[in-house]
Amino acid sequence: EKHLKAGFTQHQSTCCYCGVGCGVSIQKDPLGRLHVEGEKGHPVNDGKLCSKGMNLHYTVNDSSDRLLYPEIRYGKNQARKRVSWDQAMERTAAVFKALIKQYGPDSVAFYASGQCLTEEYYVINKLIKGYIGSNNIDTNSRLCMSSAVVGYKLSLGEDSVPVSFEDLDFADVLFVAGANPAWCHPILWRRVEAAKERNPQLKIIVSDPRKTQTCELADIHLQVNPGTDIVLHHAIGRLIIEMGAVDQHFIQQHAEGFEAYRESVFLRTIEEAALICGVSTAAIEQTASFIAGAKAYMSMWTMGLNQSAVGVNKNLSLINLNLITGQIGRPGAGPLSLTGQPNAMGGREVGGLSNLLPAHRDLLNSAHREEVEAFWGVPSGRIASKPGLSATEMFSALEAGTLKAVWIICTNPLTSMPDVHLVEAGLKKAKFVVVQEISNCAETLAYADVVFPAAAWAEKEGTMTNAERRISYLPKLVDAPGEALPDATIICRFAQEMGYAGFNFNQTREIYDEHAQLTAGTHIDISGLNYTILKEKRTVQWPYPSGSKGVGTPRLFTDHHFYTASGKAQIHAVSDENTSEKCSDEYPFILNTGRIRDQWHTMSKTGKVNKLKQHLSESFLEIHPSDAARLGIQEATLVEVKNKRGFVRVKAKLSQNIKPGGVFMPMHWGKIAGRDDNRVNNLTSSLVDPKSKEPDFKFSAVSVQAFIKQ
Ligand code: SF4
Repeated sequence: EKHLKAGFTQHQSTCCYCGVGCGVSIQKDPLGRLHVEGEKGHPVNDGKLCSKGMNLHYTVNDSSDRLLYPEIRYGKNQARKRVSWDQAMERTAAVFKALIKQYGPDSVAFYASGQCLTEEYYVINKLIKGYIGSNNIDTNSRLCMSSAVVGYKLSLGEDSVPVSFEDLDFADVLFVAGANPAWCHPILWRRVEAAKERNPQLKIIVSDPRKTQTCELADIHLQVNPGTDIVLHHAIGRLIIEMGAVDQHFIQQHAEGFEAYRESVFLRTIEEAALICGVSTAAIEQTASFIAGAKAYMSMWTMGLNQSAVGVNKNLSLINLNLITGQIGRPGAGPLSLTGQPNAMGGREVGGLSNLLPAHRDLLNSAHREEVEAFWGVPSGRIASKPGLSATEMFSALEAGTLKAVWIICTNPLTSMPDVHLVEAGLKKAKFVVVQEISNCAETLAYADVVFPAAAWAEKEGTMTNAERRISYLPKLVDAPGEALPDATIICRFAQEMGYAGFNFNQTREIYDEHAQLTAGTHIDISGLNYTILKEKRTVQWPYPSGSKGVGTPRLFTDHHFYTASGKAQIHAVSDENTSEKCSDEYPFILNTGRIRDQWHTMSKTGKVNKLKQHLSESFLEIHPSDAARLGIQEATLVEVKNKRGFVRVKAKLSQNIKPGGVFMPMHWGKIAGRDDNRVNNLTSSLVDPKSKEPDFKFSAVSVQAFIKQ
């Protein structure tokens, strides 16, 4: 405080972009503008921020594109008009009541976001599951980490990331599978870079069909063919077994399923696996020997494994490598899934997906449903036993007419969802669409019957949990523009308008207290936590039961007792088949999608910052020079990428970093000035993993040709 200029105030918060959750130090000037820096001493970033975090304040300081007032349109072809909050609430509640009365509770749905704060997630989930009586709530986290959720549940007994980021300081072998943290989780990757600098003996293996910036630090880059991850993981597992490097004690005392796993990985020879994966046997052998010889082995992954038709099996096959080597529950050892969004973890804590209940309770478990009903004080049997619609199912159900209304909160499905034309068709067909948003650039607004203007980061208080179970409190620092309100306030106000009793919260902290008490006695128990403690400690890692004193629990399963029924970790034998759509003569290329360094999601925030456009200013198609030459494509040639779902037209970027037969496009661009031919999700398919319902974003069959304007 002593360095502050006159009239400035000093605050701390958390970056609202990726799941790394960096601490930010904010100075508020006398005009109410915010100036953001990395927070020194913060356990995640110790003062560092990536390009996105450094420009965070633009989202708040620039209110030029903000939604300021509630709006309603009374007919599909009418223009929306400004109304009061009371009018907007009355209209929305009247339509919801009428639809629920006529078609039942499953005729309405909420589609929210991993950017929502935990308190917001909590009240949305409580509203739909506990009061409306439907499980139709899903979020864009479904597109990001739901395969990891199921993977953890099946192997460790619960969706519990066992390690902390600090474990990266202790590992001596790190396997990064299907992730490019150098671009997508940059500050976490700086930690790995620092660890490698301190200890050149740290072995880093990266598996990725593309040679990304992350590969620059790697001792081995396994440039696998798309969709072959499980074959690779199995081959590594087989070699570890052959080397005699399995941890027999751990397997006998703390795990189940090893024999079936052993059989499954011996179904292929290493030579066969190398051929399928498109990498050398030597590289697989070297990888296996690094892991076999590790004192502390960590795996780290994200969308390359999760966003797949076999995402859960990919997760399990990677986690298996930690289990067969007993590399879990010690410093530097364990699996670490990264989340793409800042609060995907918080959403899981409150049960904010269509198949979950609060505090990781199981929707299919009647005792769990009764526990939550009793806590919420709602009638027994109110929580439906049938899972609700997942993200892709929701928009298909709108299109089919079985779902009548959707309420979209803080997300941009017309850019981010796969097979986006289906989403568009669903929104066109919907009887009623509510859009709760901060800015007027969301494409969904074109379909909105009601618009609720929402407060942005730093305009509201609440909490978030990063990818390592670290909970942070985010303060309100400035007022929202116009009549925008915090998301939790909007939901509670609507619930009251519906006549529901459980939403009379006077302050956000009361929502948090209720959420924390509902976790008591569960594996994610945070009943010892409240805003006062969070403000004092700055961050806390769950669990944090009542009576806890420190800063939480950095590492789970240190006693090797797992959350499964038997208390043992489950080694799953999974098929190595990839069930993605097949390429054909007509659509011979495999399209991969992902992030670029300086943009985030659908660019509704980062797209406003000129500095961030300088890195890569427009969408592109990355293609190998040999494929390009065959097709008569040169650098910057306009190409048309097509399949049966749609097309895009973007400039070609020739690169040796992608394998022949594969192409890559960034995920960020949507409709620009009415044109949607930059939007990669015109091409992706709504095929999902059957267990996690996560879409197969990384594997779509397409054709590529130079585009000549007629
Ligand atoms: Fe924000 Fe993630 Fe960058 Fe940290 S790494 S500053 S959390 S975007």
